Amino acid sequence: MDNLINHKKLPNKLLFDRHRIAIISDHGDPSTETGVEEAGGQSVYVRQLGEILPTFGWWVDIFTRKINKEDPAIVQNSPYCRTIRLVAGPEKFIPRDHIFDYMPQFVAAFEAFRKQENIYYPIVHTNYWLSAWIGLELKNLTNIKLVHTYLSLGIVKYETSLKYKTLTQLPEIAGTRLRVEQQILEQADCVVVNSLQEKEDLRNLVSQKGCMELIPLGTNIDLFHPILKSEARTKLGLKQTEQIVLYVGRFDPRKGIETMVRACARSKTRLTGDLRLVIVGGSCPDRIDGSERKRIEQIVQEVGLSERTLFVGRVDHDMLPFYYACADVCVIPSHYELFGLVAIEAMACGTPVVASDVGGLKYTVIHEETGLLVPPQNIELFTEAIDRILTNKVWAKQLSINASNRVNKYFSLAKTVGHLNSLYKKLLTQKVELTVIS
Ligand code: UDP
Repeated sequence: MDNLINHKKLPNKLLFDRHRIAIISDHGDPSTETGVEEAGGQSVYVRQLGEILPTFGWWVDIFTRKINKEDPAIVQNSPYCRTIRLVAGPEKFIPRDHIFDYMPQFVAAFEAFRKQENIYYPIVHTNYWLSAWIGLELKNLTNIKLVHTYLSLGIVKYETSLKYKTLTQLPEIAGTRLRVEQQILEQADCVVVNSLQEKEDLRNLVSQKGCMELIPLGTNIDLFHPILKSEARTKLGLKQTEQIVLYVGRFDPRKGIETMVRACARSKTRLTGDLRLVIVGGSCPDRIDGSERKRIEQIVQEVGLSERTLFVGRVDHDMLPFYYACADVCVIPSHYELFGLVAIEAMACGTPVVASDVGGLKYTVIHEETGLLVPPQNIELFTEAIDRILTNKVWAKQLSINASNRVNKYFSLAKTVGHLNSLYKKLLTQKVELTVIS
């Protein structure tokens, strides 16, 4: 059993060390390739935290489940950031709806690692509901300040999936997830919400209790910044004369790619032969994203757009700004998006966005100012919105300027991490009984 001691008795080394933080990301390995199934926004976000928090004086360890035997157990991402892959269940990809039973092993492996390295993490920041369960267990074992970010909210996800028929019945794990999502809101020291909609949903649908702080996600505006369209197209070997409609993201039925394809098929620019649909995102043939990509390819063929569509596959962040910048419009047709990093990445590059009028997208995209918001799955209104932007270049230029200004002002990564840093430090100054590992 760990000893609880007064912090005055801690050795100087511990006191003057950088503050340690454990970021828990059960799935969504930050050191893996992003843009494929279960390695989307969560992987990108925790990786970015690991990159920036050390500049605020933190020592960051990011814990995730090991899903490949060949992967190293520890990746030293930078002098003060590591990814630590814990063995919890078979070392292979298992969809996240099926890994809850391995979470006790995750907790045991975390504690074993911590004790072996003689590390105390005063702050543990969990991401996604499975990590929330881990965090609650750790809070019972040691004195930690527990911060949680949902990144996806079960109650809303299930409701929209049933409504839009991407699910015909709830997964077996649904009840457990909903229970844990309530517990974490009520018991975490702070829940970080990413948009006003999320805050409202948590209060109305999950619990009246619990502390929340609104900190939107951010993006690296040094990386995602406006580039001349002509330069981006030359770099990517795309024609200067085409009207480019872009999708960036995972292949998942909930992303609504079908709506965008069908909307493009009706677009006015299709008649002039100028349309080019560019779809960026990876997939694995034997996984769910592989079958969704196949389904989308069939729809593209069915609506006669095969010649006009480019499936690019997965693209790394260092090349993504060129894809955003080459496009006339970026479409985000998701049925639901708790935040939606793609929207702020596109806007940061000065690309107007046509997005579903849902969740975090309602918060990041300002209708008629930085892009257009449309009800999800409404093909007719998506077509109209895409055409409005493609056919009015002067207005589109204004949207583009407004879009990058908005991200620079409100959604820069530096701002997000600065805000998180203040939150963690505030929590540390609250009564903390430091724990020393015996
Ligand atoms: N992404 C990527 N390469 C790709 C496609 C997507 O790195 O080929 C990244 C994209 O830049 C964004 C993330 O995956 O940072 C997707 O995050 P978002 O919040 O939009 O969606 P999620 O995947 O979390 O549902």
